[in-house]
Amino acid sequence: MRRLLTLTTLLAGLPLAGPVCAEQVFSFQRAGGQLPKTVVPVSYGINISTDIDNLKLAGQETIQVDVRTPTTDVTLNQAGLHLAEAVLDNGVKATITQDDAAETATLHFPAKVSKGAHTLVITYSGPILKTPNGIYVDDYTAPSGETKRMLVTQFEVADARRMFPGWDEPAFKATFQLNVTLPKEAVAVSNMPVTQSTPEGTSQKRVSFATTPRMSTYLLALVAGDMKSVQGQADGTPLGVYAPSGLEGQGEYALHASEKILPYYNSYFGVKYPLPKMDMVAIPGNYQAGAMENWGLLTYIDNVLLFDPKNSTPRTRELIYEVVAHEMAHQWSGDLVTMGWWDNIWLNEGFASWMEIKATDKMNPDWDIWPRQHETREETMGTDALPSTHPIQQTIHNVSEANSAFDSISYGKGELVIRMLEGWLGEDHFRDGMRLYMKFHAYSSTTSQDLWQALSKTSGLDVGRVARSFTEQPGIPLVNVASACKAGKTVYTLTQSRFTIHDPHPAAQTWMVPVVAGGPGLATQKLVLGKAPQTLSVAGCEAPLKLNLGESGYYRVQYNAPAFASLLKNATHFAPVDRANLLGDQFALFRSGQAPLSAYMDLAD
Ligand SMILES: [Zn+2]
Repeated sequence: MRRLLTLTTLLAGLPLAGPVCAEQVFSFQRAGGQLPKTVVPVSYGINISTDIDNLKLAGQETIQVDVRTPTTDVTLNQAGLHLAEAVLDNGVKATITQDDAAETATLHFPAKVSKGAHTLVITYSGPILKTPNGIYVDDYTAPSGETKRMLVTQFEVADARRMFPGWDEPAFKATFQLNVTLPKEAVAVSNMPVTQSTPEGTSQKRVSFATTPRMSTYLLALVAGDMKSVQGQADGTPLGVYAPSGLEGQGEYALHASEKILPYYNSYFGVKYPLPKMDMVAIPGNYQAGAMENWGLLTYIDNVLLFDPKNSTPRTRELIYEVVAHEMAHQWSGDLVTMGWWDNIWLNEGFASWMEIKATDKMNPDWDIWPRQHETREETMGTDALPSTHPIQQTIHNVSEANSAFDSISYGKGELVIRMLEGWLGEDHFRDGMRLYMKFHAYSSTTSQDLWQALSKTSGLDVGRVARSFTEQPGIPLVNVASACKAGKTVYTLTQSRFTIHDPHPAAQTWMVPVVAGGPGLATQKLVLGKAPQTLSVAGCEAPLKLNLGESGYYRVQYNAPAFASLLKNATHFAPVDRANLLGDQFALFRSGQAPLSAYMDLAD
């Protein structure tokens, strides 16, 4: 998902939650969630009939389940649906109770259902909504001036349960085969290609889609309406951009972006995009998610997908590229490999936010995207310095807490921590680790611990020890640099504390900070700074040694007077990104009362 509100807005109203402690690698049994894990879905065959005039839905689904522990009760999710009948193995009927507050239904069978494979057929009905979640209608004004109605789904975080009863938590992966009855003139797209379309009565048709790979419920999608598309391909995968009829030509720009990005990701992740097609759809107006990475059917609010060369601004062009790169990165990070529970949403979002910038920069080096990430960094660190911050990984008990987890810490700090790890490990080791992670966990789920293991394997370093200190603790380390010149050599002593603003008594914390230091004419030096002070040394007495070279690290730096004076003297010889970094840190130190404004002004001059 790529929400388009400002990051600070997103943090407002977040519940404070505790950090996740001593995380282990993914295990289905340990994965968070509220549903019992005694009965597990293997495949869904979903048939729905839609009445978009009267906003009604009628459905029947056949679910192949694996009963792991014999039980009389089967609990699954539903929200706003009415379950009329549930039948097991062609004969055993269940008594059904619904708990609308918990968004569940429980099927009570007269005798224990035995361990092993069973077939469950559920008949149900429900509303089609007018608000943009679950399955809903989007009324919009077409280019012709007519009011038109589009049928749209948006399931993340937990609204698949509004279209069909199911195990609507991310670790319950299964395959999905969708059949939908809708107005005969509608163009319908879903995660997979259409396999069959047959008329039904005089005004409707039944459209069937191919079976998806094993995936989480929140990634299923359906869009239908008066749409046309532009089509292309990359690396043998058909690509399409759908838009309300008449606007499809404005999809050309995003289509060409996707044609460049797909081969790059195929190579980067080392696993070829696994679905038989990838479509992107422009949803007119009513789409609060901003953009959503449904596997094989990426949905976008129209103004971040459609580009009108006559009227769109250059910034719109960049934004479209970034958002397309973000949602496409999720086709691997999120869709092929999914966080086991929402406490690791940052694995999806931090990675996609970092990758959107990396890919956009790769394809458009003249846009200078990386230096502009300085703003994201300052905004995120501004939030993370406050007492109200929280760790990237935090305990998520339920769906409403999961919704709140999509904030500037998951996206912004997640992106910055990933960038720091890549800078520390090196581009090749990091990419090789990602390839190993994708290959090993394809079609399954993970925790952050699984990623640290893969990166440790390819780099030979203890990545978890460094990474966990940033993902499981809130806040920002401040690296203090004290220099002293003796016998023609400058020795820099590095220590750490916690950087805060408006927080007089922060909890004492220690990070394992990967420090990259250097400067004009100096060799680059790397170390990991823990609790114990460490030193760096450079020949000469006025060497301009700067920490956080390239601004790839997630920490602030405070220099003592001699070290700062050397930097000041040589400030113009640093790259723009390092000058921006020095200014950003110096202003933050002023804001926190640890440095005078004059030091910042001297640098800015
Ligand atoms: Zn996202």
